[in-house]
Amino acid sequence: MKNANAKLTLDTPVSEIGKIGTKYVTKLKKLGIFTLQDILFHFPRRYDDYSKIVPIADVFENENCTVIGKITKTKNFFGFKKKIGIFEITIEDETGIIRAVWFNQPFLANSLKEGLHVAISGKAVVRKGLIFTNPIHEIIHSDNNSVESLVHTGRLIPIYPETSGVSSRWFRFVLKSLLQYSNEIVDYLPDNIIKENKLLALNDAVLNVHRPKNLNIAKHAQKRLGFDEIFLIQLLLLSQKQKWHQQKAMPIKFNQPLVKEFVNNLLFTLTNSQRRSLWEILQDLEKSTPMNRLLEGDVGSGKTVVSAISALQTIKAGYQSALMAPTEILANQHYKTISNALGKYDINIALLTSSQPKGAKAKKQLLNDLKNGNIQFLIGTHALIQESVKFKNLALAIIDEQHRFGVMQRASLLKNITDISDGLPNTVPHLLSMTATPIPRTLALTAYGDLDLSLLDEMPPGRQKIITDIVISKEKREKTYNFVRQEIKKGRQAFVVCPRIESSENQSENAKSLTDIIKAEIKAVKSEYEKLSTQIFPDLNIAMLHGKMKSAEKAKIMKEFSNGQTDILISTSVIEVGIDVSNATIMLIEGAERFGLAQLHQLRGRVGRSNIQSYCFVLTSLPSENERLNALCMASNGFELAEYDLKLRGPGQFYGTQQWGMPDLAMSSLGNPQTVKQARLSAQTIIAQDKALKLHPALLKRLGEFKTFLHKE
Ligand code: ADP
Ligand code: MG
Repeated sequence: MKNANAKLTLDTPVSEIGKIGTKYVTKLKKLGIFTLQDILFHFPRRYDDYSKIVPIADVFENENCTVIGKITKTKNFFGFKKKIGIFEITIEDETGIIRAVWFNQPFLANSLKEGLHVAISGKAVVRKGLIFTNPIHEIIHSDNNSVESLVHTGRLIPIYPETSGVSSRWFRFVLKSLLQYSNEIVDYLPDNIIKENKLLALNDAVLNVHRPKNLNIAKHAQKRLGFDEIFLIQLLLLSQKQKWHQQKAMPIKFNQPLVKEFVNNLLFTLTNSQRRSLWEILQDLEKSTPMNRLLEGDVGSGKTVVSAISALQTIKAGYQSALMAPTEILANQHYKTISNALGKYDINIALLTSSQPKGAKAKKQLLNDLKNGNIQFLIGTHALIQESVKFKNLALAIIDEQHRFGVMQRASLLKNITDISDGLPNTVPHLLSMTATPIPRTLALTAYGDLDLSLLDEMPPGRQKIITDIVISKEKREKTYNFVRQEIKKGRQAFVVCPRIESSENQSENAKSLTDIIKAEIKAVKSEYEKLSTQIFPDLNIAMLHGKMKSAEKAKIMKEFSNGQTDILISTSVIEVGIDVSNATIMLIEGAERFGLAQLHQLRGRVGRSNIQSYCFVLTSLPSENERLNALCMASNGFELAEYDLKLRGPGQFYGTQQWGMPDLAMSSLGNPQTVKQARLSAQTIIAQDKALKLHPALLKRLGEFKTFLHKE
C-alpha cells in the first residue's frame, strides 16, 4: 500500500515508503536495508567537500568548489571523432560565465534547461577557458532557493556504499525527506556511557552523519556511530563467549610424561613463548568448560608444533582431534609434517579434502573409520565440517589461519564443529584457533573479543633477520635476477609472488569482479612463468601454482618444490599461505605497491624458516613507494608493522573490510585505540550486570537488528 500521507515510523518497510519505487526493494535488500530505520543507519563511507561556494569569477583550476548560476545555453553533440555524446551547458552569475560538460549523459538535457538556476559542484579544468567535466549538478527551484536546502552540491557531500541501481545520489534524494525521522530514534546506550565517552546523542549523530555542516561535526557523528558498532560487536561476542562457556567439554588430564617425552625428542628446543602457550592450552583442556583460545604468532613462530602436542595429548587420552586449514595445499603439508612428528606414537591420522570424490569408496571408508573411532586425528580443509562427517568422540578442534574467517562466519563454524562431534553427548570440542596475521591490538580485541589469547611473541632461536631489498630500477632488477641465480646454484630455492589485482571500488560489482580478479591473477602468474622460464632463467626448473589447477596437479607441484626438484615457484599471493619449505630462502614480490605492509611481511615470512640467511626482494616500478617499503626493510616485527600499516593506509584498506565482516565505521574506529577500549569496557560492564539485557530493551532490539545486518555481510 502506497500512500505518501500515511504516517511513517522507523519500522515501516521500505516497500511502504511513498518515495521508494518497488524496483528498489530488492536492490536495497542487498545492502541489508529493509526498513526506514535501516536507511537512516546506512552511513556514508566518506564525504566529498564541495562546501566552498564561489562566484564564477573566483573559480580556480583543479579545486573542489561549487558555483551557482543561471543556465544561459545548452547543447547536445558528438565529440572525439563523433564517438562520445557530449552535453554542454553555459552558466552565468553576476561575476562571469563558465561551462560544464557531461559525457554520455544526453538525458541530462531533459532536466538542465535554459533559464533554470543550477548549482554545479566539481573541479574545473582549463580547456579553452575553465570548464567543469562531469560535475555534480542540482537544480535550484525558485520556490526553495536557499543554499541550506542543497543536498548534492554546495556542502560536504556524503558518498554511500552503493549497489547497482542504488547510487549515492539516490540516497541523498530519499534522505532529504526521511532524515526528519531520525528524531524518533531511541538512544539505546545508557546515559552514563554517553557521558563518559563524550558521545553525541544517537539522533544527532544520525542526522549529522548524513548532513554534516562541517567536517568536525561529521567526525563527531562518526565517532558516536563507530563506537556503537564496536560496542555492539563486543556485546555479540561476549554473549557468544558466555554461551560457549555454558556448555560442557571433555576434560583432558595433563599427561606430563607424554608431553615431556615428546618435547625432549624434538630436534629443537621450544621457545619460552611456545612453552607458555602450550601450558595455557593444556590447562584449558583440563577443564570441563570448552576452551576457545586463539594462538597468535608471527609467521614462522612455530604454532604447528604447539597444536600437535595438544592433539597428541587429547588422542592419548582416548579422544579424537581435528585440524582444519584454509587451503588444500596447507592441509596436505600439515598432514605430512604432523604424520612425521607423531610417527612413533602409533596414531591413525587421515587427510580429508574436497578433492576426494563424494561417493568414492575410500572416502566412505574414511567416514566410517571416523565414526567408529579408528581414525584418531583428522586433518583437512573445509570438507571437514560437512554434514556427512561425524566423529566418534571429537574433543579438540584446531583451526589454522583462522583470520580467513570473519566474525560472523566464526559463529557458524562453532555450530558446524558442534554438529559433527555429536558422538560425545552434551559436550562440544575444545577449540584452538591459530593465526599468523599480525593484526593490531584494536582489531584483535574487536574481531576476537570472544577468544582467550595466547601469544607467540618470539621466533625460534638462531633465525637470521631476512635481508629485504627494494627493487625499482631496471638495472637493479637485472642484478637481483643474477643474485637469485647464484643462490639457486648454491642449492637454494625461490618463491615469486605475482601482484594482487585489486577489486574495483564499486562494491556492487563484487561477484563479477572476484572472478575477474582470479582470472587476472592467473594470467599474471602465467605470463610471469613465460617470462622467467624462457627469458630470465631458461636454465632453471620453474613451476607455477594457481587456484584454477586441479588438486592433484597442485599437490604434485608442491611436492616437487618441497623435494627440491623445482628451483622457483611462481604463484599468486593467496595460494601459499602457511607453506613451510625451509630450503626456500628467496622471496620475490612483484607489484609490491599493491600489498599492505602487513601482507608483505606475511609473504616475506615464507622464507627465513631455517638458519640459512634468507632474502626478500620487493619489486615495484613506483619510486614513491620507497619510504613505505623502507619500513618493511627495517622492521622485523609484524605487529609493529601492522600498527604502522593501519595508521598509514587507514583501517578501511587494512586487510579490507570484507574479510573481517565488520561494518565500515567500526573498521575506521579501529584507528582509535581509546574508542575500542572504551566500547569494550562498556560492553563488559553491561553484560556483567545484565546478562540477557532485560534491563536494556532498546539495546536488545538494536542488537538483534545489528546481528541480522552482520549476517547479511
Ligand atoms: P607458523 O607459526 O608460521 O605456523 P610453523 O609451525 O610452520 O610456523 O614453524 C615454522 C618452522 O619452524 C617449522 O619448520 C618448525 O619445525 C620450526 N620450529 C618450530 N618451533 C621451533 C623451535 N622452537 N626451534 C626451532 N625451530 C622451530
Ligand atoms: Mg602455520
